Amino acid sequence: TEQIEQHSYDVVVIGAGGAGLRAAIEARLQGKRTAIISKSLFGKAHTVMAEGGCAASMGNANPNDNWQVHFRDTMRGGKFLNNWRMAELHAREAPDRVWELETYGALFDRTAEGKISQRNFGGHTYPRLAHVGDRTGLELIRTLQQKVVSLQQEDFAETGDYESRIRVFAECTITELFTTSEGPGERGAISGCFGYFRDDGRFVRFDAPSIVLATGGVGKSYSVTSNSWEYTGDGHALALRAGATLINMEFLQFHPTGMVWPPSVKGILVTESVRGDGGVLRNSDGERFMFSYVPDVFRDQYATSEEEGDRWYTDPDNNRRPPELLPRDEVARAINSEVKAGRGSPHGGVFLDVSTRLKAEEILKRLPSMHHQFKELADVDITAEPMEVGPTCHYVMGGVEVDPDSAMSSVPGLFAAGEVAGGMHGSNRLGGNSLSDLLVFGRRAGLHAAQHADRGRPAVTESDVQDAVERALLPFSTATDGGENPFMVQQELQKTMHELVGIIRKEDEMEMALKKLEDIATRTRTVSVEGHRTFNPGWHLALDLRNMLLVSLCVGKAALERQESRGGHTRDDYPVMDSDWRHQLLVCSALGEDDIELTRKDQIAMRADLFDLFEMDELKKYYTGEELGGHRTELA
Ligand code: FAD
Repeated sequence: TEQIEQHSYDVVVIGAGGAGLRAAIEARLQGKRTAIISKSLFGKAHTVMAEGGCAASMGNANPNDNWQVHFRDTMRGGKFLNNWRMAELHAREAPDRVWELETYGALFDRTAEGKISQRNFGGHTYPRLAHVGDRTGLELIRTLQQKVVSLQQEDFAETGDYESRIRVFAECTITELFTTSEGPGERGAISGCFGYFRDDGRFVRFDAPSIVLATGGVGKSYSVTSNSWEYTGDGHALALRAGATLINMEFLQFHPTGMVWPPSVKGILVTESVRGDGGVLRNSDGERFMFSYVPDVFRDQYATSEEEGDRWYTDPDNNRRPPELLPRDEVARAINSEVKAGRGSPHGGVFLDVSTRLKAEEILKRLPSMHHQFKELADVDITAEPMEVGPTCHYVMGGVEVDPDSAMSSVPGLFAAGEVAGGMHGSNRLGGNSLSDLLVFGRRAGLHAAQHADRGRPAVTESDVQDAVERALLPFSTATDGGENPFMVQQELQKTMHELVGIIRKEDEMEMALKKLEDIATRTRTVSVEGHRTFNPGWHLALDLRNMLLVSLCVGKAALERQESRGGHTRDDYPVMDSDWRHQLLVCSALGEDDIELTRKDQIAMRADLFDLFEMDELKKYYTGEELGGHRTELA
């Protein structure tokens, strides 16, 4: 048997995007020996791709902004299904986390008076997104990495070893979490994890009492997505298999504006900043169709004429915002309807035009990446002509069910932060709320993971390590039985999810999807790869497929169960939002390798002082009379 590389840490952070880096920095600041593991190259994560900005109610662009307004916007965006405590912590702590980044060396764009500039985004009452042009994520990652390096230099000065307290393991994919075996009435606790290095395939184990999952999203289970190759839902699946639960998995965000042409780049994101900075949506008749799609719950907050919408950009206090800036779920559905009604653009999208609204030099200054992206990839000059855009699978609201304050899952020692965690965004995330989410809860996860590490070190069960090795090698041993090519199975899975559990859902289609997933499960168990463990993308995918399948089952089952339309879950057969469903969480747990159990759970009622931040007239649109009555009694 081969020797397995072995490391021991206090805190292991899986994922090196914003959530993972912020968690690792915090754990190290608490004096813990910390490892950061990333499947991709260090520095390559979704966080780097974030364009628009980071939402925080600093009130620089409009002094009326504060955490309460941000909290309200976030709850509205999520259609009141959010975990309100997470939404509260997020709104309260986001400004401090942005300021803190500047102490790490970040430099956000400035207002004329030298304050951090803030831009408009859908669903945010005031300009709120701190940004660096349209490359905000790059600055975020750059400064978090810089902070890691500066901590390593401090450690070197003290110990003579840069990596004595914080070490990065890049291009290393984690495939298993280890837990202690449960005694009667006892929950298994985290003891470590296992994975392989992508270049030479060598195995590695990390023994640690605290693990933070910060693995990002699941978009690669869909054929049209803004997500990149590594977003196969690994953290979601690892958590399930370790005994944790996932919530809100039926809610996926289809970003309204992805590129639709040429086919090779279909799905790549077109930032919401284009609309935030004045871009308008038109159909093939030249109509600004969003005015026809303002839902009742938002009617008072959006302009009713183009003139009013246009005036809002310069006089936001006396006009209402244009409907292009409705939350993403609304805009994505509207585009979908226009295309279906035959009013789409030549390549099956709609037109997004900023060229008639801003001078070329202004576009080049505010949206340099978008200009470059369209020129290079589609030969479109966005300073002179409209873009063609359509919905793309972008973000998963669902994720690991965590304690809002500590970010710990139901498995002792297992924490989750960033996109892999569930609850914060309810049924729909507002743009810009992810970068702030991952800073706020990344820090909290790191802090509590560090504290948890003081409670002792459960030992890894040696036979679990052997099992992990065997499972990882399985795709090689099935080769002789003529198993399937993982790339083919992946394609089938993506097509199934895209076509049958996509932006608009129907009962019979989802039932068909679940049947197909059963078949895909059988095929996944027998995928086979040839060659050896030295850089073998087929093998890597074979292992990822397990996760994609489990996550897709959660999405499919939860979507079939929820008989209403809300946020990122739209049912053709149940087209309206149903107050009886508002407080219902659908909780997924794993029963076996590819079996999911779905249970219902009541949301905890909102704390009275937060509840008081809303007008009763608005709450009536979301809550049942009975719930409101209950709250009144609570207040009295
Ligand atoms: P990520 O940044 O996705 O990082 C995940 C990390 O986990 C990576 O390092 C990956 O390699 C690692 N990993 C995954 N699986 C494993 C494994 N098995 N083993 C080891 N490592 C693993 N949000 C905003 O708020 N504002 C924006 O302007 C914005 N723009 C966006 C633009 C694009 C194109 C995209 C795709 C998203 C955008 N988002 C935006 C969303 C936001 O970027 C992401 O939700 C957020 O960055 C997720 O951060 P994270 O730290 O949770 O995970």
